[in-house]
Amino acid sequence: MALVNENYLRLRGSYLFSEIARRVNEFKKNNPDADIIRLGIGDVTRPLPPAAVEAMQKAAGEMGREETFRGYGPEQGYDFLIEKIIDHDFRPRGVELSSDEVFISDGSKCDTANFQEIFGLDNIVAVTDPVYPVYVDSNVMAGRSGEFAGGRFERIVYLPCTEENGMKPDLPGTRVDLIYLCFPNNPTGMTLSGEDLKKWVDYARENRAVILFDAAYESYIREENIPHSIYEVEGAREVAVEFRSFSKTAGFTGTRCAYTVVPREVKAYDSSGKAHPLNDLWLRRQTTKFNGVSYPVQAAAAAVYSEEGRKQVRELIDYYMENARIIREGLEKAGYKVFGGVNAPYIWLKTPGNTGSWEFFDRMMKEAHVIGTPGAGFGASGEGYLRLTAFGSRENTLRAVDRIVNKL
Ligand code: PLP
Repeated sequence: MALVNENYLRLRGSYLFSEIARRVNEFKKNNPDADIIRLGIGDVTRPLPPAAVEAMQKAAGEMGREETFRGYGPEQGYDFLIEKIIDHDFRPRGVELSSDEVFISDGSKCDTANFQEIFGLDNIVAVTDPVYPVYVDSNVMAGRSGEFAGGRFERIVYLPCTEENGMKPDLPGTRVDLIYLCFPNNPTGMTLSGEDLKKWVDYARENRAVILFDAAYESYIREENIPHSIYEVEGAREVAVEFRSFSKTAGFTGTRCAYTVVPREVKAYDSSGKAHPLNDLWLRRQTTKFNGVSYPVQAAAAAVYSEEGRKQVRELIDYYMENARIIREGLEKAGYKVFGGVNAPYIWLKTPGNTGSWEFFDRMMKEAHVIGTPGAGFGASGEGYLRLTAFGSRENTLRAVDRIVNKL
């Protein structure tokens, strides 16, 4: 008799997006002519930068000729991409990495979900609340969550990000071992300063904990004093792993390329107290379970760092950030309280008059025909908020703001 992994039975249904789809479909059925604008989903809408497309086409051509054909690539990624990443994303910020500390992958979703595998099951996991659900669900699947009771998993430590603490998590009251931080944050769109991050790095060093730092939205940072990498903070190389993605930076959500940085110094311990470099364990895991990213896709990612590519990516991000400004300023002018949208493509709207997230979602859908994402879907502390994204077209963004301001 085949037995299931019972940890999977503890997972909450993918309630959020299926429930949104259900409500939108029902509304459409009753209002077939309604012109609905979706500012809920976190997917990009602008096409790939031409430099990436050209590089992908050229690489595909190479794969079709005997003299330039490539078979299995290195699981860790090609050096031509790793070197560009180090030269452009880290060195200018004073961060030195060696090429064996960067692991190319097909996504930060997979990396943030898979990385927990190399840790023991007795670790206590801390996540911010609200949170990108992948961190929680992957730990539930592994068996680190305990039971779900009262809206939360018993063994997970939730770090509320609320208006009172400026959407910045406070250090935990009880000891934790693995800490997931995502800044700029999805869904709140807020960031941490170097000083804020230093608190976490110091905590991790004192408690021999590991920080899993998701920087998928790093390229949206506009303000000068915000660190782009956790390694800009002193001591972080000892305790932090960093996840980066080309998805939101260069429109790679359908093309798939990302990378994870695992410095040689980051360690976890066995039951006898002996330290083991996470880099060795992650390399072992990847070489066993992952085949690497295809050559044409890595060539496309490398082209993002060419002079042309960098200019095109800047234009993409400027486009979305102008949308973010339009949403943020439009809603603020109309009297809404909003967070984010300055260093991130997400705007976290406080629902007026303490309306529930879902109730406000319904109102916005029915009265303005605009779809957001109810904050409660990202965790208990997201109740009373709604997430809007800057990833729509300019035209739809302008129309959506106009409707929210004038029809609600
Ligand atoms: N991390 C965060 C916080 C995200 O919001 C997303 C995507 O929405 C990802 C990671 C996933 O990125 P990728 O497309 O590289 O898997």
